[in-house]
Amino acid sequence: MIKTNSNRRQRASAWLTLFALFIMPISVWSQTKISYHSNKYKPTDDVKVGRQAANEVEQQMPILRDAEATNFVSRVDQRLVNSIPAEFQHPEFQYYFKIVNARDINAFALPGGPMFVNRGMIQAARNEGEMAGVMAHELSHVALRHGTAQASKAQKYGLLAGILGIGGQILGGPAGAAAQIAGQGVGVYFLKFSREYETEADILGAQIMARAGYDPHDLANMFQTIERQSGGGGGGFLSDHPSPANRYARINQEAQYLRVSDPIRSTGEFERVQSRLRGMGTASTMAEIAKGGTRYPTGENTGNYPTNAPRGSVSLPSTRYQNYSTLGGLVRVSVPSNWRELGSSNSVWYAPEGAYGQYQNQVVYTHGVNLGLGQTQSRNLQQATNELLQSLGVGNGNLQQRSNLQRATIAGRTGLTTTLSNANEATGQTETIVVMTTQLRSGELFYLIAVAPSNESGRYQTAFSNILRSIQLND
Ligand SMILES: [Zn+2]
Repeated sequence: MIKTNSNRRQRASAWLTLFALFIMPISVWSQTKISYHSNKYKPTDDVKVGRQAANEVEQQMPILRDAEATNFVSRVDQRLVNSIPAEFQHPEFQYYFKIVNARDINAFALPGGPMFVNRGMIQAARNEGEMAGVMAHELSHVALRHGTAQASKAQKYGLLAGILGIGGQILGGPAGAAAQIAGQGVGVYFLKFSREYETEADILGAQIMARAGYDPHDLANMFQTIERQSGGGGGGFLSDHPSPANRYARINQEAQYLRVSDPIRSTGEFERVQSRLRGMGTASTMAEIAKGGTRYPTGENTGNYPTNAPRGSVSLPSTRYQNYSTLGGLVRVSVPSNWRELGSSNSVWYAPEGAYGQYQNQVVYTHGVNLGLGQTQSRNLQQATNELLQSLGVGNGNLQQRSNLQRATIAGRTGLTTTLSNANEATGQTETIVVMTTQLRSGELFYLIAVAPSNESGRYQTAFSNILRSIQLND
């Protein structure tokens, strides 16, 4: 969705390189300087959102619990982390890799340090350097703070529903209201980067490799290995994951400036771990794993994100209620006891089983309540609410506003409410969506969004008004 002018930039840098070849004395040739993109967030925000996303990922993905393999990957990780250039070090970040027990050749990183590498990736690498190469690439996305830089960029387009609430917009495409504001799929949200970011992660990755004593050419080689083993880019790390056209050449070019004497070729450990993993039999693919249950992000590649659409038929809300303290302790709410809490620090959903799932790279909800915080540009409640509605895509496609903004009360405060209608993207059912907003003392917008199919909304009225009445804001 986010358009970059990376082509133009690539062309420009090609010219610069050519130019440099002619005018610069050889001694001036040096490593490419990488710098941060503008970022509205603090490094501690990276840590916060990354930790939440990691929790979600770890609940949904099969993590390989094998001490020998995990310890080996951690040692390589440590060597790489110690080699991050000073300007990209963040003392608050906690880098770690977990192995996902899946066959697909894939890996991904979350802000602040949590990273995941598939068993398939380790098995595919031809040597330790190639495995370290992918890890250095992922590490570089984290060190360069690409996840939150991307979120900062997205917010220029007016959607400020909170860093974890903007997945829908990033992924683009038509989406249900519920999908667009979903704080879910945080994994997915951070997984896809522009080619520009990919190139930066390749270059910094090569530099980190060299500083750690690995041959940076192995990073370039790994991309060839991935391509070969995924059958011409059919699935995994490379398919749909934007791969810079000249990736292999670009990394090798950078490698010229990176001298490594006697690079680490093989420690024997890699081979031991690899044969250990191979001895475990064939791992399931992410798609197979997904069939078994809930939502599974599949790595940097979101193209084959498993579709597990919401069924649309769910059990009625329980008349028993459960209390939650959510959104960082800011909100207390009580919801039907058969609804699950799904979400993050800035956007949380309460929904019954069967009411949420993946549909065309979006998390879609059919029934439930979403509570969230949005940093809108306006402190005027009406303007801020309109900004929120715009960010949800109201007025585009099927999502239409059915009533003007009306006064309402939330948690004893003045608020606004409106009703929307939509055709749910996953089920096609007409749904009624009630949006309510009020302002926190900080000026942030607090919103509540209740969603149910129109022909069932009568059955949800009691639950929705009980939830609304239970809300307490502690700001
Ligand atoms: Zn990448």
